[in-house]
Amino acid sequence: MSKKTLIIGAGGVGNVVAFKCAMNTDTFGEITLASRTKSKCDAIAQNVKAKTGVEIKTAQVDADSVEELIALIKETDADIVINVALPYQDLTIMDACAACQVDYLDTANYEHPDEAKFEYKEQWARDQLFREQHIMGLLGSGFDPGVTNVFVAYAQKHYFDEIHTIDILDCNAGDHGYPFATNFNPEINLREVSAKGRYWENGKWIETEPMAIKQVWDYPEVGPKDSYLLYHEEMESLVKNIPHLKRIRFFMTFGESYLTHMRVLENVGMLGIEPVEHQGQKIVPIEFLKTLLPDPASLGPRTKGKTNIGVFVKGIKDGESKTVYIYQVSDHEKCYEEVMSQAVSYTTGVPAMIGAKLMLEKRWYQEGVHNMEEFDPDPFMEELNKQGLPWQVMELDGDASLEVKEA
Ligand code: NDP
Repeated sequence: MSKKTLIIGAGGVGNVVAFKCAMNTDTFGEITLASRTKSKCDAIAQNVKAKTGVEIKTAQVDADSVEELIALIKETDADIVINVALPYQDLTIMDACAACQVDYLDTANYEHPDEAKFEYKEQWARDQLFREQHIMGLLGSGFDPGVTNVFVAYAQKHYFDEIHTIDILDCNAGDHGYPFATNFNPEINLREVSAKGRYWENGKWIETEPMAIKQVWDYPEVGPKDSYLLYHEEMESLVKNIPHLKRIRFFMTFGESYLTHMRVLENVGMLGIEPVEHQGQKIVPIEFLKTLLPDPASLGPRTKGKTNIGVFVKGIKDGESKTVYIYQVSDHEKCYEEVMSQAVSYTTGVPAMIGAKLMLEKRWYQEGVHNMEEFDPDPFMEELNKQGLPWQVMELDGDASLEVKEA
C-alpha cells in the first residue's frame, strides 16, 4: 500500500526534505508540505515539480495548535510526520502524532520559547505514551544531532571496544558575502551560540562562559579553523548511551566578523528573549533582529565553500589505543545546484529524509521515543553515501590529534 508523508516547516531545511522525499517517492508516496505560511510551501512545491517532476501537496497549519495538527494529520492520512518547523513545536507535534497513532521524526530537541535551554526531558517523557500508541518517535535526525550520533554508533560498532573521548567538530567554512547572517533560523542559532558552554567529563557536566574555550582544529579538505566549545544537544543522549565514555565536547567554527557582530548585538541587548516595551508595543529583541537579518533560505545562491562535520573519537581496540575521525564534507554550491539550498540546510534535510525512509521501510523501527545512536548505524551510513552525503573515516595513531596547538 502506498505511503503518505507529511512534512511540517517550509524553511531552509523543509525545502531540502521536500526535494529529497520527492526524489525517493517509492518510499514516501504521497507528500504534503505544510507550514504556517502556505505561500512558502507553494513556492517549494513549484521548484520541486520543476526540478524533479514530482507533485507535492501543500497546506497551512499552525503547529502550536494540537487540534489543527490532528485535523491535518487526519486529512492527509499520513504514515509519518517529519517535523522541520522550530524546536518550539516539538511537543505539540509529538502529541498530535500520539493522538493519531502516526510515527514522528524531528531534527532538534525541544526548547521552550521563554527559556534558552535545550533538553530531551519532555520528549523522552513521551516514551511511554508512544509505546502505548504503538508508534515510534525518532529524535534529532539532522546532521548534528543526527549523523554525528550515527557516526559515534558506527565508531563503536566497527572501531572500538571502548570509546573514551569524543569531540564533535562542526566546521562551516562557507562564505555568503554578508558581514553578518546565520545559516539557519537566526533566533535558534543565536540563542544556541550566546548560551553558556557545557561539556561532560568523568560523570559531570562542566559549564563555561559563552565562547570561553577556543581550539584550532585542522579540518580535512578545509584546513585549520578557530573552533569554540558550545553545549550541543546530542551530548545529552550520547552520555547516556555510550558506555565507558570519559569525556565528550562539541566545537563549532566561527569567524572573527561573526563573533564581533554577536558580541555587539549581545552588549546592546539585541539577543534578549524577554519582551521589551517600545512605543507602546511589546517587542522581543531577538525576534526583531530575525526580521532584520537575511533569511537563511536566501543565502543559498550566494554561499561558496565547504562544511566538514565529524566526530573525533579516541578509545581502545584489542588493548591498543586508537583514534578515528569520521567526517563528511559538503560543498555549498553543489548543494544549491541540486536542491536550491546551501549546505547547512542540505546536511540537515538529507538525514531527516533518511531517518524517515528507514522508519517507513521498517529498517529502523522500535515503538517508543528514541535517539539515533540506539539503532544499527550501517543502513543509515549506506543511505548517506547514496543520498548525497558521502563520508570518510580517517584512522590515526592512538595519541594523534587534529587539534593544532597554538604557539
Ligand atoms: P527556518 O526558520 O528557515 O524554517 C522554519 C519553518 O517552520 C518556517 O517555514 C516557519 O514558518 C515554520 N514554522 C515556525 N513556527 C511554526 C508554527 N507555529 N506552525 C507552523 N510552521 C511554523 O528554519 P530552518 O529550516 O533553518 O530549521 C528548521 C529546523 O531544523 C529547526 O528546528 C532547526 O533547529 C533545525 N536544525 C537542525 C540542525 C541539525 O543538524 N540537527 C541544523 C540546522 C537546523 P514561517 O515561514 O511562517 O516562519
